[in-house]
Amino acid sequence: MLKNCNITEIIQILRHNIGMYLIEVYVTNASLNVNYPFTYYSLDEISKYVRVKVSFHNKITGAIVSNCTFVDIEYEDLCKEKGYKLLPIIEVIDNEPIISEELFDLAFWLSKTTISPLISCLNCMLPKVLKAKQIDSNVKMVKHFHKNEGDFKFTSKQKEIYDSLYEGILCSDARKLSTSIISKLINMGAIEEYSVEAEYTPETSDITCFKDLTNEQDSVFNNVISTDKMVSLLFGVTGSGKTEVYLHLARYYLKQGKEVLILVPEISLTPQMISRVKERFSDVIFYHSELSDQERYEQYKRVKENDVKIVVGTRSSIFLPFNNLGLIIVDEEHDSSYKQDNIPMYHVKNVAFKRAITFGAKVLLASATPSLDSYTHALKGDYQLLTLKNRINLKLPEVELIDLSKQKRNDSYIVSNRLKDELEICLSNHKQAIILLNRRGYSPIVKCGSCGTTLTCSDCDIPLSYHKDQNILKCHQCSRVYKIPKYCPNCHENGLVFYGFGTKRVEEELQRIFPEASIERMDRDNVSKKGAHKQILDRFGNHEIDILIGTQMIAKGLDYPDVTLVGILNADAGLMHQDYNSAKLTFDLLMQASGRSGRANAEGKVLIQAFNVDHYALKAVLKQDYEYFYNIEMNYRNKTSYPPYSHIVEILLTDVYPDRLNSSLSKLVNLTSELKSKQYKPCELPKLKKNYRCRILLIDKDLISLLNDVTSVINKYLQLKNVSSVKVDIDPLFLE
Ligand code: ADP
Ligand code: ZN
Repeated sequence: MLKNCNITEIIQILRHNIGMYLIEVYVTNASLNVNYPFTYYSLDEISKYVRVKVSFHNKITGAIVSNCTFVDIEYEDLCKEKGYKLLPIIEVIDNEPIISEELFDLAFWLSKTTISPLISCLNCMLPKVLKAKQIDSNVKMVKHFHKNEGDFKFTSKQKEIYDSLYEGILCSDARKLSTSIISKLINMGAIEEYSVEAEYTPETSDITCFKDLTNEQDSVFNNVISTDKMVSLLFGVTGSGKTEVYLHLARYYLKQGKEVLILVPEISLTPQMISRVKERFSDVIFYHSELSDQERYEQYKRVKENDVKIVVGTRSSIFLPFNNLGLIIVDEEHDSSYKQDNIPMYHVKNVAFKRAITFGAKVLLASATPSLDSYTHALKGDYQLLTLKNRINLKLPEVELIDLSKQKRNDSYIVSNRLKDELEICLSNHKQAIILLNRRGYSPIVKCGSCGTTLTCSDCDIPLSYHKDQNILKCHQCSRVYKIPKYCPNCHENGLVFYGFGTKRVEEELQRIFPEASIERMDRDNVSKKGAHKQILDRFGNHEIDILIGTQMIAKGLDYPDVTLVGILNADAGLMHQDYNSAKLTFDLLMQASGRSGRANAEGKVLIQAFNVDHYALKAVLKQDYEYFYNIEMNYRNKTSYPPYSHIVEILLTDVYPDRLNSSLSKLVNLTSELKSKQYKPCELPKLKKNYRCRILLIDKDLISLLNDVTSVINKYLQLKNVSSVKVDIDPLFLE
């Protein structure tokens, strides 16, 4: 039997007989919705939390090791005991664990609290280079030369180049001297190439002084560091100097040798915010979606190696491998970009609380328009409530509502005469204006002039937008592009009509009214290129732009002293959505946008154009009064038992086959009907990216029992054969 084996194989077979290691791994497999590990075997011990390659359903896939135990049993017996043929680990990918025990436990917690597979939680927490499905190492390596000693017979030119090389010189630098001679030196063995992982070279910047805090700011600072509550909520109006308080707090915790994380919403990680932090701290990690995979990996490593102690980043930076976290700041804590909209659908605040408990750290939530949930907790005393009531310049902008339903005939509903007049004054004073319209493109609706059919995306069931510059129709959900049809697809008559207006149309209109002014637009259509965002804002900051038009992207975080006018168009458009949260979202957006006006010495004005000016969200913005809004909105939430008076769980089914979706829905309804939580009738949602969708909503005051119920339903559902894919959203921010 052993005749044809080589020595290592013989040793392996012998070791088979005296035992082996059982390796539990979590397998990456998109179609797999399970939350338990699979067992493989290995003859060698493998450390926990490294990636391995395994064969799963006859395909080689990546996996993460969660456990390794030695068993003193023969292979054949083991397979008999298990009832299946145990497979070997094919290859170990990492030399050391890619994740710590703390983060692995966090992944477990995340998986439980968001009802999503552990492996998708792990993948979401790790930078792409370290994800389990990344089985071929793509870490960037840098090549250097090592100089060998020896008796080499150099020509004079070769000697000259050899002498000028220093140990560890970058190969690319060395080759600049002479490619051919370097190749000769390699052939002679005089120099030798070696590779190391690329490392991040920090930029250095000049450090400026910290501003002295005002009395109001100073008391916030002191209260944060001295409270024994874990969470503080800073309710501070726009321009009240919240950012300055963050920077002072960061300095304080850094001095204590602790790490500080400042979380910012995706959109407000503006170049301005970055430069303000860079001005105060010599070495900061910025962690956000504009980084390349390699950059993210390098920054991840720097946090792990305790290289840098202050991180400013978006949502995913909550998962960085901190060592000694002292403070987590959540800037604009109400912002919906803090909730991830695909699996695992976590909210960053919950993860922040979890990590703060682990590290004994503090959490500072801050906003000019706090989430109803946070403000309620603060009023109840669960969080410490801190306020900054005054702007640094002591002036709030003056707000005016323009009622479009009462407009005169010759007035425009895009740029009203009133807004036009104020823009004129603003421009003649050499000040700057921001115009917000939360809709990009030229026209959001295209209809047939004869039969009235609205053109929709065939993959998504939503109206197509007209984009004039490219002369196309575009779906804003899936980005699919359509040629403009000559004839109506329904009645085959010609003559399409464009309804409504987007930012591009406003740009055209304003340029027509103010041909001399420098006008620019900022929305997803023109800042998709890396750095485009910064370029426009830099030019705005240098006053090369007079009027900046944009979507919600320009509503947040911008601090430009010369902006004295903010115009908000179609301000009540968001209120048309039949969503429980739409009043709050509209209020937040309008308050944030208003907050861009009059931040320095000059008085600021805000003009808001709307049809529904009597709505309490608009009235509250007019008064610049959060509490007024809070009281009315909470009353509504109480009557309807919407959050924060309860918790909602959305179970979403999606499928490309409508029949299977229907049958899956009935099966799911059978399962949920046994639960005691309140349930809404299942409803169909518009098709999205070729997927038919429907959902069930469950509502309960008690989150823990709701989670338990839904987890058991989902587990049962996943046992069923041939059903649609399912996704769970706990406390969804939108219900479409
Ligand atoms: P917020 O984040 O609350 O909107 P900022 O932190 O952007 O407010 O502050 C508004 C403006 O006031 C900024 O230009 C900032 O530099 C300035 N500022 C903040 N705190 C102080 C201070 N203590 N002294 C002088 N200027 C300050
Ligand atoms: Zn589409």
